[in-house]
Amino acid sequence: MIDRTKIYIGGEWVASTSEAVTEVFNPASGELVGRTPSGGADDVDRAVAAARAAFEGWAATPAAERIALLDKVRDGLRARNEEIADLISDEMGSPRSFARLSQVGLGVKNFDFAARAMEEIAAEGEEEIGPTLVIREPIGVVAAITPWNFPLHQISAKVAPALAAGCTVVLKASEVAPLSAFVLADLIEEAGFPAGVFNLVSGPGRTLGEHLVQHPDVDMVSFTGSTGAGRRIAQLAAPTLKKVALELGGKSANIVLDDADLAAVIPTAVKQCYANSGQACASLSRLLVPRAMLPEAERLATEAAGSWTVGSPADLSTKLGPLASESQQQSVLTYIKSGIDEGARLLIGGTTPPIETGAYVPATVFSDVTPEMTIAREEIFGPVLAIMPYDDEDDAIRIANAAEYGLSGGVWSADRDRAVAIARRMRTGQVVINGEPLNLRAPFGGYRQSGLGREYGRYGLEEFFEIKSLQGAQS
Ligand code: NAD
Repeated sequence: MIDRTKIYIGGEWVASTSEAVTEVFNPASGELVGRTPSGGADDVDRAVAAARAAFEGWAATPAAERIALLDKVRDGLRARNEEIADLISDEMGSPRSFARLSQVGLGVKNFDFAARAMEEIAAEGEEEIGPTLVIREPIGVVAAITPWNFPLHQISAKVAPALAAGCTVVLKASEVAPLSAFVLADLIEEAGFPAGVFNLVSGPGRTLGEHLVQHPDVDMVSFTGSTGAGRRIAQLAAPTLKKVALELGGKSANIVLDDADLAAVIPTAVKQCYANSGQACASLSRLLVPRAMLPEAERLATEAAGSWTVGSPADLSTKLGPLASESQQQSVLTYIKSGIDEGARLLIGGTTPPIETGAYVPATVFSDVTPEMTIAREEIFGPVLAIMPYDDEDDAIRIANAAEYGLSGGVWSADRDRAVAIARRMRTGQVVINGEPLNLRAPFGGYRQSGLGREYGRYGLEEFFEIKSLQGAQS
């Protein structure tokens, strides 16, 4: 059991002013795996004051020095990959094999790519527009608020570029999976960042999180989480007109065109929905197939879903672990029931957990899903694939764009140009063509209810700057 009794403020591990504690449970076994402080407004006030005090010095620190510190954190994460991945697996149920491959690896890349993007910006120098010099300045104190599904990845996608840009940070990680945030704070301390540049508070979103969002000395809120919480945060941030970047939910469509090789495509399409037990914002949870190909797609999807070995996340052969919590399990089972009740055809899976103890949900595939059904409209965040038949390309685009979300999408075709033409018509922030692996240097973010702003690489870094015009600086 990991007992983290202190929070990190102003370069020191200090006691929270609250004695309350957050308990973290392994969703496979119910075992207590960790404890963290559960603080409130006082902790936030102290952390924001420390970040504010550190801002001017950090913003003036040469980019090369900031980058060197980020590279130390990257190396520290890489060196402790397996240990941190196993910790994340214990706290939120991600299968160890997947966690070791992705959970920490993405964090390493975020630190690396933020540093490289900052190098690029520094090397380019400042822009001149006639007599005006246009300069970038770090936006100030950034509140980073993150969810549990890829805890370290989502933290690093904000913290690394914010620090690279010269901002100071107050991080509030998910109370469901907070432990990797504490390890990151250890690494930041070991790297030797100046006091107050990075601060970690810990506690519930509704109290501590809301105080942070409303704080007048916070200049920007960078949030990843549910669309509901994102809406609330945008409202709470409005009175102080601080910048808000929101990475929210999705209900992404994966369009299989009629020239695609189904036998090759469908197993990967199932993986694009089930990875991390379906708990991914960019999960491709709606599979759109030409009506004539439906029976073959159904057969292959059922076979592929059946091969997702369910088991303990600690077992390296497990592909489908438990969901992150019992409440997440109940929510997903309720969605599966709604699919059955609203007339979708269940091909595999259903409402009976495959393992009795733990937050397990069976690998589930529905067919004949129509756009008005709940399971076609709402983010499920579990291993539930909705197959939706379509008549022609226009119909596929209509179905894909019918969702309120617009975070990701996919297209499969033997003809790349045809796939790209379809991808251009999808109202979403990212489209994965023929199963291309995620490129963390390219921008990621949502249209419509999926959010505001972009993360990753150069675009993600640009979010943390204000732009200033020095009129007459060149004349
Ligand atoms: P959540 O919205 O419940 O919580 C996310 C974080 O926000 C947590 O730290 C929580 O404590 C905090 N929070 C909640 N309400 C708050 C409030 N009113 N004020 C301030 N902070 C508040 O989300 P979750 O259940 O942890 O994560 C799952 C959701 O995250 C899914 O909807 C998923 O799609 C989304 N997500 C989006 C992305 C993306 O990049 N677009 C990535 C991963 C997850």
